[in-house]
Amino acid sequence: MEWEIVMGLEVHVELATKTKIFCSCTTEFGGAPNTHCCPVCTGMPGTLPVLNKKVLEYAVKAGLALNCDITRYNKFDRKNYFYPDLPKAYQISQLYLPFAKNGHVDLVTRSGKEKTVRIHEIHMEEDAGKLVHSAFGEATFPDYNRCGVPLIEIVSEPDFRTSEEVIAYLEKLKTTFEYLGISDCKMQEGSMRADVNLSVRPKGSEEFGTRTEMKNINSFKAIERAIAFESARQIEAIENGEKIVQETRRWDDNKGKTFAMLSKENAQDYRYFPEPDIPPISINDDTIKEYLDAMPEFASDKVKRYEAEFGIAKADAEIIAGSKYLARLFEDTVAICKDAKEVKYWIMSQIMYFMNEKGVQPEDITLSAEQFAQFVKIVLADRINKQTGKVVFEEMFFSKGEFDLEKYIKDNNLEQVDDTEAIREAVLVVFANNPNTVEQYKAGQTKVVGFFVGQVMKQLRGKAKPDTVNRVVAEELAKL
Ligand code: ADP
Ligand code: ZN
Ligand code: MG
Repeated sequence: MEWEIVMGLEVHVELATKTKIFCSCTTEFGGAPNTHCCPVCTGMPGTLPVLNKKVLEYAVKAGLALNCDITRYNKFDRKNYFYPDLPKAYQISQLYLPFAKNGHVDLVTRSGKEKTVRIHEIHMEEDAGKLVHSAFGEATFPDYNRCGVPLIEIVSEPDFRTSEEVIAYLEKLKTTFEYLGISDCKMQEGSMRADVNLSVRPKGSEEFGTRTEMKNINSFKAIERAIAFESARQIEAIENGEKIVQETRRWDDNKGKTFAMLSKENAQDYRYFPEPDIPPISINDDTIKEYLDAMPEFASDKVKRYEAEFGIAKADAEIIAGSKYLARLFEDTVAICKDAKEVKYWIMSQIMYFMNEKGVQPEDITLSAEQFAQFVKIVLADRINKQTGKVVFEEMFFSKGEFDLEKYIKDNNLEQVDDTEAIREAVLVVFANNPNTVEQYKAGQTKVVGFFVGQVMKQLRGKAKPDTVNRVVAEELAKL
């Protein structure tokens, strides 16, 4: 039988406000354990939470960017549970009146398939602390620095069918929030965390199967593997006549398997009730209009503009616009040096290489647009050739801004040699050093031309202008 995978995502995103959701403690990541805390976020009796206005602003902007209806009158609710990472023994969240509902996200997957995923709702809540377990399991240390860090939870409808769609969705959320400036969505630091609900059903069936939920998988790669494993596990179980149990399963990335955690039967009853310490919030039309008017240019708009304005291929434009930081570097550099194609070339060849092979994250790029533009001008003026350019670019890229481009080229004597006589001299030296190859050429083996060109380049330490080398080699060969 052919099976179809059905998935719905619950994504937690930490909002990048300077302070926490209900107190003035910093939200900064890291820090010594329990140094970013106060009586409010550690739930001391007698303290009162006060909603951080920025949290509401960031949350509403996220809701608008994901095409949601914003609830004009919304409230917080108390979700009660005991766990050592939550000293208050309840989490302030939203159950009955979440601030945003009925949105959608338009996606294009890596293989070019278009898809719209519906958003069921988005709510605001506070994060819990972290438990650090000692190596041999003899102790657990609670760290409450993360308690009260603002979160939004985005709940999708069960609209995903492939892991490609899931990845495209998470990437879209990340770039959208990056452009909005409301979160950095770093999965590796836990500022974006995805829970994947997954069920399978016979292809063509309208009815949903029983789902399991995989919590907090922390990389795109792991999500892809977890989906492949869990869907295969469910299909095999059903084909063997077993029933899928609705439960939470933990993905173990080392073992490559999911393991049962909580089943719904013994799931907790959170005894939700309206949060009595925070007054209801009303959001007016003027505020919404103001946020809508101030929406940034998002990735999909940039792609269209890069194609139209700069004649850049869609695939390249998508990569550049896929990161706010790359897009900014690209746009600012083009504004100075006025050659979008050349700037694109260096981003796509060198920066993409550093990102893929050296783990460079776009937000960590320190290369300034001014320096990048200066480099492009030097290349366009033919002062260094592309090969030397790659070496110079790498040196400049990793120099953290203190790099004197002119001095580096001068000190290393990298300026391109376009002196025909100097090149001719080198060609003659190469001929003299390789008499056998010269004989081969005379005997009709024209493929040795490439060898001569390579040797001349080497003789001139890679600095010669390739066009001139080709021309002079051809001229000298004709004289043999
Ligand atoms: P709960 O409140 O029990 O967590 P929800 O109805 O809020 O359940 O759904 C949680 C997530 O699970 C949503 O993202 C939803 O799209 C997804 N989901 C619901 N039913 C299924 C199903 N049968 N298969 C896959 N995903 C599902
Ligand atoms: Zn605090
Ligand atoms: Mg839910």
